[in-house]
Amino acid sequence: MPLLWSIEVKAFVKGEILELIFWSGLLIMANQKLLNLASWLPRSRANGPGTRMVLWVQGCPFRCSSCQNSDYLQFKLNQVVTVDRVWEVFAQQPDLAGMSFSGGEPFAQAVALGELAMRVQGMGKTIVCWSGYGLEQLEGGDIVGAREFLQHIDLLIDGLFVESLAGNEVLRGSKNQRLHFLSGHISEEDLVDIPRQEFVVNDESITYTGFPVDL
Ligand code: SF4
Repeated sequence: MPLLWSIEVKAFVKGEILELIFWSGLLIMANQKLLNLASWLPRSRANGPGTRMVLWVQGCPFRCSSCQNSDYLQFKLNQVVTVDRVWEVFAQQPDLAGMSFSGGEPFAQAVALGELAMRVQGMGKTIVCWSGYGLEQLEGGDIVGAREFLQHIDLLIDGLFVESLAGNEVLRGSKNQRLHFLSGHISEEDLVDIPRQEFVVNDESITYTGFPVDL
């Protein structure tokens, strides 16, 4: 997964998080799908083609040696938001090319992310998603919501991070990871200008994202 590092702890929407956790039971009863995020960026150039909103989900069942996002592995409540709220924030930036999902393990939240991805694609935008699972596992039917989620992913980057195979392949941390162009709406030529690392600066924080450079 592309790493994310920030000098300031950021909330998805400050002040709303505790309220959303408090109301989560009622929201589930109201059939609102919830996401448990570790972090997010409204705009990034290093996480797929074009400028994209990026979500890092909280929780991963894998434990790759030298994982770049070790704070995101534990399954615990972090920033709980509704799919509706994320969708609203995304829709306020019509110039975005799409959304990217990283983690953590996005397929641990396949049902809610599938709903969000379907809405994003419905606007003619694209979805990029990383997963530690292989595509064949995701298609196998054992992971709740995975097949439906896959139908709304344009580019899947699959496979665990293997430290001994670390390299500089685009959008990948190690050479075993694979690119799957699932829809035809993103192609290999779209990946040529993606920076490997990026610093996002705003009034409140400096955020570093991307992949380590293997020298
Ligand atoms: S699958 Fe990704 S997030 Fe999970 S441990 Fe491996 S590198 Fe880290």
